[in-house]
Amino acid sequence: MGAKARAWVNRGLVVLATAAGVGLILRLPAIATVGKLAILATAALIGGIVAFREIPAFDPLGRVHWRLPRRPTRACAITFDDGPSASTLRVVEILGRHQVKATFFVLAANARRHPDLLRMLAEQGHAVAIHGVTHKKIHRDSEASVEREISTAMTELSALGVQPARLYRPPHGLKSRAALRVARKLGYQLWAWSRGIWDTDRPDPEVLVRRATRFACARMVLLLHDGRGDEEHPDIEPMLAALPRILERLCADGFTFLTLDRA
Ligand SMILES: [Zn+2]
Repeated sequence: MGAKARAWVNRGLVVLATAAGVGLILRLPAIATVGKLAILATAALIGGIVAFREIPAFDPLGRVHWRLPRRPTRACAITFDDGPSASTLRVVEILGRHQVKATFFVLAANARRHPDLLRMLAEQGHAVAIHGVTHKKIHRDSEASVEREISTAMTELSALGVQPARLYRPPHGLKSRAALRVARKLGYQLWAWSRGIWDTDRPDPEVLVRRATRFACARMVLLLHDGRGDEEHPDIEPMLAALPRILERLCADGFTFLTLDRA
């Protein structure tokens, strides 16, 4: 729906809501009923808009990717946001011990701090994708601003020696129609996730293992963090302690691991 059409819909809803108020005050049942329906429609519309923006995987039109396509094997994807950080090296070592390739949605600002780690990710066969330049929320930004964010991140990562995959996950998973339009225009897939375990809250590692594995199912896209937003020295120790056990349990349950650029 274009901006003009949206404006007319909004005006219509305001008129109907006003009619409802008048109908209720003057005790005119027919007008009041129409008005009540209008109020319900308005609430549903506003609820839908808020849900679309605030719930990462929610998109009634299916434009947001959040789980792997169907395939014959029991596959899942491990994804990391907010890196690279000094701890990314330990993440890569753990992944290497389990022969798991993962997808890293990196911030260009963090990649500037750790260009060697960025290149190491690509060299070791992990997928490098875009999370942004910084960790600022983009869901209220204009199309031009979102385009600048993605393009700048792409340019900066390329200058550091890594050509990122055309996969974009906005900070906090907060999206907008503008973000979807830009992603389509630039040829990017917009990715959310199917399982988040709130590792940046730094709970006990056993809690993270339980959250990641208890309801693990085929097509799962697991969200973890090898950084913490724009923090220069993030503490991700609980995730690092949990990661080997998460991978061991998923391997024991017969999962294979895909990177999102090959999904
Ligand atoms: Zn993030």
